Amino acid sequence: MIHASLTELRAALDAKRISSVELATLFLDRIEQQNPALNAFITVNRDGALAAARAADARIAAGNAGPLTGIPLAHKDVFCTEGVLTTCGSKMLSNFVSPYDAHVVALLKAAGAVNLGKTNMDEFAMGSSNENSHYGPVKNPWDATRIPGGSSGGSAAAVAARLAPIATGTDTGGSVRQPAGHTGITGIKPTYGVVSRYGMIAYASSLDQGGAFGASAADCAQLLTAMAGFDARDSTSLERPAEDYAREIAAPANDKPLAGLRIGLPREFFAEGMAEDVRTAVDAALDEYRKLGATTVEVSLPNAKLAIPAYYVIAPAEASSNLSRFDGVRYGHRAAEYRDLAEMYAKSRAEGFGAEVKRRILVGTYVLSHGYYDAYYLQAQKLRRLIAQDFQAAFAQCDVIAGPTSPTTAWAIGEKADDPVQMYLSDIYTIAVNLAGLPGLSHPCGFGGGNLPVGLQLIGDYFSEARLLGTAHQYQQATDWHLRRPA
Ligand code: GLN
Repeated sequence: MIHASLTELRAALDAKRISSVELATLFLDRIEQQNPALNAFITVNRDGALAAARAADARIAAGNAGPLTGIPLAHKDVFCTEGVLTTCGSKMLSNFVSPYDAHVVALLKAAGAVNLGKTNMDEFAMGSSNENSHYGPVKNPWDATRIPGGSSGGSAAAVAARLAPIATGTDTGGSVRQPAGHTGITGIKPTYGVVSRYGMIAYASSLDQGGAFGASAADCAQLLTAMAGFDARDSTSLERPAEDYAREIAAPANDKPLAGLRIGLPREFFAEGMAEDVRTAVDAALDEYRKLGATTVEVSLPNAKLAIPAYYVIAPAEASSNLSRFDGVRYGHRAAEYRDLAEMYAKSRAEGFGAEVKRRILVGTYVLSHGYYDAYYLQAQKLRRLIAQDFQAAFAQCDVIAGPTSPTTAWAIGEKADDPVQMYLSDIYTIAVNLAGLPGLSHPCGFGGGNLPVGLQLIGDYFSEARLLGTAHQYQQATDWHLRRPA
């Protein structure tokens, strides 16, 4: 049961071969055993999970089960969960028990899914390695000396180690796709506005988007279907009819199920910078796609190289504003001793935030200040528009874009910790997608040196989530990388 797909779990629950309480217990016991080594969870929600599982069993018995009723999952600790600690990986919120559920959490609760707990993450979702958590680094289940990627590293490690069958994450610049790639699982970030940000603690609001982790595209499609949908409480939530993101998950019709699909390969992604072992795995995956009937065409994203500088102006600018609410008054950490209000703010923030968060607040405040706004912030917004236009030009020539998720496999814990710029550069292939607001998916496509997973990224035009998932599904029907598990 630990390794079963969501479809298999659904069948087992419906046939009463296992109860939801038994299933939740199986995963909770596994978390208890393995989490001390992996540090994937900040909070384990044993009592809450068992209560939800009992309710799910009653629903199943009454014949009222939906697709996720009784299915265990984990939430990234960026999502507010009523009555359960919500830390966002920060000392600032280490005492914060949310009085309400995020929209995503409420939807999954209503669907009858069972919340096993809250996963570790980079503080306020700032990072690419999960080393920025107040709760310590998450270990990669494939090699515990290596990072799992970030910022949703806890969710990715939990799914890779099968401490949960599926998990939620958020992706501001790659934080679903990159850790999925580094841990050998599948992750999707939908079009900006598809998943409500209500109750998802804000990092950079114009880029933040909830996403789904699973072993396969099929599992991700089911989770995303349950997470997505209009929510009037998020002003950027898109008012569109509900979608079944699993609608293109189908058995291969013939031996060329992807015939007619044009895959664009951005020249800039295949230039220097990609490690040899990543290139070998990505090239082999592209050959597999061609075998399945797809054709490949070279495209160009000339401004993609400017994505990192643009992002590291825009994201910190938004973060500096979003994080001003953590002042020691309304929520979270408050310094024990202070002389006046100003010192209370200053000391609470100095004590509550970690080094990377402070760096971003400083950068963000600087680029928004008088005299620098035009030189940095406005300039970055213009680059953002150009980057989005590049993608539109590319999609005139292809249906999906493919490339590596990350330039290298997972690096050693500590390796880039003192070099923020090297850390930022590791997101070179994922960040442009957020700047443009497009959907992106990462699926495992092989292993590099040291038996470390390599991810292939698929990028689609707006609202092409079902196509991305269906495309990855055909690849996963023909290959077994997504079935490999760490020892
Ligand atoms: N690594 C990027 C950053 O540090 C992206 C993080 C994310 O997607 N949340 O901002």
